[in-house]
Amino acid sequence: MRSPIPDYLTDVLRAVEPDQSGATADYIPELAQADPDRLAAALCTVDGHVYSAGDATAAFSIQSISKPFAYALALADRGFDAVLEKVSVEPSGNAFNEMSVEPETGRPLNPMINAGAIATHSLTGPLGATPDERVARVIDGLSAFAGRRLEIDESVYHSEIRHAYRNRSLANMLRAYDIIADDPLVAVAGYTRQCSVLVTTEDLAVMAGTLANRGVNPLTGRPVVSAEVVRQTLSVMATCGMYDGAGDWMTRVGVPAKSGVAGGLIGALPGQVGIATFSPRLDRHGNSVRGADLFTRFTADMGMHLMEVPPAGPSAIRSRRIIGPADDEVALFSLQGDLRFAAAERVVREFQENPPEQSRVAISLRRVFSIDAVARRMVLEAVRRLTLDGHDVYLIDPDTVLPDPDPGTGGRVQVLHDLETFDTP
Ligand code: GLU
Repeated sequence: MRSPIPDYLTDVLRAVEPDQSGATADYIPELAQADPDRLAAALCTVDGHVYSAGDATAAFSIQSISKPFAYALALADRGFDAVLEKVSVEPSGNAFNEMSVEPETGRPLNPMINAGAIATHSLTGPLGATPDERVARVIDGLSAFAGRRLEIDESVYHSEIRHAYRNRSLANMLRAYDIIADDPLVAVAGYTRQCSVLVTTEDLAVMAGTLANRGVNPLTGRPVVSAEVVRQTLSVMATCGMYDGAGDWMTRVGVPAKSGVAGGLIGALPGQVGIATFSPRLDRHGNSVRGADLFTRFTADMGMHLMEVPPAGPSAIRSRRIIGPADDEVALFSLQGDLRFAAAERVVREFQENPPEQSRVAISLRRVFSIDAVARRMVLEAVRRLTLDGHDVYLIDPDTVLPDPDPGTGGRVQVLHDLETFDTP
């Protein structure tokens, strides 16, 4: 069978193709010369399959899409406190190049606007890294997110740096407030190099896919940053990634996203897929016109809005029955699905409201496919309390979805692979 997904991507590119509104960024002369008709889309699943259509292997500069990745690298290199001390996480509601800093501290409002991104760049690499070492760290890091070696487009770099008056004034302001320690010109040079890294739409999909996959590159299998760093990065993308259009974007499209003035746009749907589009004509916020249209269609067609509340699933308790010989009955609770807080609460409540009369209690996890840390704690606490109430508790866990179960002080549990121990007919 031929997969319907590339056909879908081709169809959706065809649907947005006639829209010629917007204009290429002209404040960077090299970008003004880009072919405005280029159009591409790519998806990267968390198990590492890339689908693409259109000009998905054409290279362009990453620009502001580098910002969330550099932020992730700074968090990984320096830790959350050191980064938050210099760059806040509040949406600015301002344009990308606005002179916006907190009045008292001089902290840029977030790492997605230029002021915050220049400060963030200076926080990459180990403390005391030289400007060249920081640039090397950022290129290495972006490459790890993309799963291949990326390079700087020197002509884009020179074209931007010659006209970077506004970014220089931002860097001077950051230096005056002691947010950066570097010479402002050096800081802008490093940040502009970061923005000049060449990527393709497929690279961007893999980079977004690495965020969607908790920081592990889905193609190479290599961990790039931790899941905690990804959570922070995606949160900042969701609230600040689309500049002064961030609120409209989150309500309409509903995925954490980041745009760049060369026409790239990425979105990451946690646990599912990284998405990237490329079309150089921009709207007044500096976001790609056809890219935004593509994302709106993806959301509708693929049900991607993060705030879409799924219908309540079946109860976590699949069944409750009595098994075993009449003189030594066992109360068997079979759980099912993906156990998180709400499901575990349902299980705990069942034990509380309808406590088993039998002294032996078995909890079967045969139909459970995952248990998160919170549900794990709650189930083990229920086991502990059942033991304290005088029950012998068994976990039927043939696939070890709950490894090393330790119910804690006073709790006891025996792990079985099947029900045979109970002499069931
Ligand atoms: N290098 C660009 C700048 O600093 C990035 C802007 C963007 O992509 O939004 O102006």
